[in-house]
Amino acid sequence: MKLEQSLIFELSRPGRSAYSLPLCDVPQEETLESLIPSGLLRSDPVVLPEVSEVDVIRHYTSLSRRNFGVDNGFYPLGSCTMKYNPKINEDVARFSGLAKIHPYQPEESIQGALELMYTLQNDLSALTGMDAVSLQPAAGAHGEWTGLMMIRAYHESRGETRTKVIVPDSSHGTNPASASAAGLETITIPSTDKGMVDLEALRAAVGSDTAALMLTNPSTLGLFETQIVEIAEIVHEAGGLLYYDGANSNAIMGITRPGDMGFDVVHLNLHKTMSTPHGGGGPGAGPVGVKSILIPFLPQPTVVKNEDNSFSLDFGGPESIGRVKAFYGNFGILVRAYTYIRTYGPNGLREVSENAVLNANYMMHRLAPYFEIPYPGVCKHEFVMSGKNLKQYGVRTLDVAKRLLDFGYHPPTVYFPLTVEECMMIEPTETESKETLDGFIDTMIQIVKEAQETPEVVINAPHTTEISRLDETQAARKPVLNCSCG
Ligand SMILES: *Cc1c(COP(=O)(O)O)cnc(C)c1O
Repeated sequence: MKLEQSLIFELSRPGRSAYSLPLCDVPQEETLESLIPSGLLRSDPVVLPEVSEVDVIRHYTSLSRRNFGVDNGFYPLGSCTMKYNPKINEDVARFSGLAKIHPYQPEESIQGALELMYTLQNDLSALTGMDAVSLQPAAGAHGEWTGLMMIRAYHESRGETRTKVIVPDSSHGTNPASASAAGLETITIPSTDKGMVDLEALRAAVGSDTAALMLTNPSTLGLFETQIVEIAEIVHEAGGLLYYDGANSNAIMGITRPGDMGFDVVHLNLHKTMSTPHGGGGPGAGPVGVKSILIPFLPQPTVVKNEDNSFSLDFGGPESIGRVKAFYGNFGILVRAYTYIRTYGPNGLREVSENAVLNANYMMHRLAPYFEIPYPGVCKHEFVMSGKNLKQYGVRTLDVAKRLLDFGYHPPTVYFPLTVEECMMIEPTETESKETLDGFIDTMIQIVKEAQETPEVVINAPHTTEISRLDETQAARKPVLNCSCG
C-alpha cells in the first residue's frame, strides 16, 4: 500500500506528533482538568492517531483528490444546478468585516452586514416577484417547510382547516416530505403524457381542504407548465395557496417570475442558482419569498431599513411563525449569493438563464439520435432521456452512469423522476463551454457503441476508480470508516 493512500490510524506511531508546544506554565489548580468535576473527566486518554505534520497533510490532500467536485470536472447532475462557483464569492465571504463579526454584536456595529442582508432580501424579492423575503432557512427543504408552516398559519388565522397539499407526480421528493413535516397531507396528481400538470386531475383534487399546490416550474422534467396561469386560478378559486419550488431557477432569471405566474410563496436554493457551493450536506441557504398576505407570518427576525437610513433587525408581530434557524441564516452563503448577484447585475442574470437553456437544448438535440427523449421539443435548463433502448444489450442506465466515471465525468441524475423508465436527467448549466459539452456528448455516444459491441465493458464499469461498485444503500447507512481495504 502506498503511504499516501493508507488511513491515518494505520500511520500512527506511538509518540509521533504534528506539533510542538512549550511546557504548560499554567498552575495546576487552574488547568481545565482541575476545573472539570472529576466524574465528568474521561478515565482513559482519547485514542487519536499519532502522526507527523507531513502525514496529516498527505492524508487529507489524498482524500480531497478522491473526491469529485465542480472544480474537478463536468458535473451534469439534473435538478442540482452544479455550476461553477466563482472564486470572487469566496474572497468576499472572507472579508474580515463579514467573516469575523459575531451574531450578538450590537446592530450599530454591523450596519454593513445588515445592509447586505437587506439588499439581498430586496434583490431576491425583485427576482421572484414577491413582496418580502426571509433569508433564514438553511436549505431548500427547510425553505419548503418554512413556506408550508406560513401557509398553515395563514389558513388557521382565517379560521379555516386546510390540511391537504397537492403535489404532481414529477415533483422533487422533498415536497411531500416537507408537507408531512409541516403536519399536512400530500395528494399526488398525475402528469399528462406531455409531462404537464393534468388540469382535470387538479380540478378533481382541489377543495375546501386544499392548503396549497406545490409546483416546480420548469418541472423536474425540464418542462415549463404552459397552463400555469390556469393552474393558479384553479387553486386560488378553491381557497388554496400556491407554493413554488424554485430550487433551480436557472432557467427563469430575468425572464419570468413565480410572483407573476400567481404563486404566493417561493423558495430559492442559493446553493444552486446563486452559485454558492453545495454538496456534502451544506451549509446552504433556502430563502423564502412571500406575497403580502403572508408577510405577517414570516420567520423573524428580518432586516429593515429605518427612516434615518440605518438598518435593524425586526422581530415582527404575534403572527410570525417564529425563528426557523439560529441567528440570521447561513450568513456566509448569503454573502456569496449577494456577490454573485452584484457581479452579474440584472442583464447578466438573464444571460445566465438564456445560456443554461441553450446548453441544455444543444445537448438534448445532439443526444436525441442515441437515446429516447420522452418529452421532445424545447427544454428549459435540464432535460430527461431514457436509457431503455440499451436494455436489449443488457446495459442499464446505472451502468452508463458508472462508465462515465472512467472518463472523468460525474454522472447525471439517474432514475429520477420516477415517471420515466431508465431515466437520466441532465443539467449542463451555463458555465460549461461548447468543448466541454461536446466532450461529454461524444463520450455518451461512445458508451452507446460500447453497449452494442462490448457490453461487458459498460456492465463492469468503473474500471479506473479507486473502488468499483459498492452497495450504495449500505455505504450511506453503514459506512466503513476504518481501513480494511488493503
Ligand atoms: C435540490 C432541490 C430541493 C431540495 O433542496 P435542499 O437544499 O437539498 O434541501 C428541492 N426541490 C428541488 C426541485 C430541488 O432540486
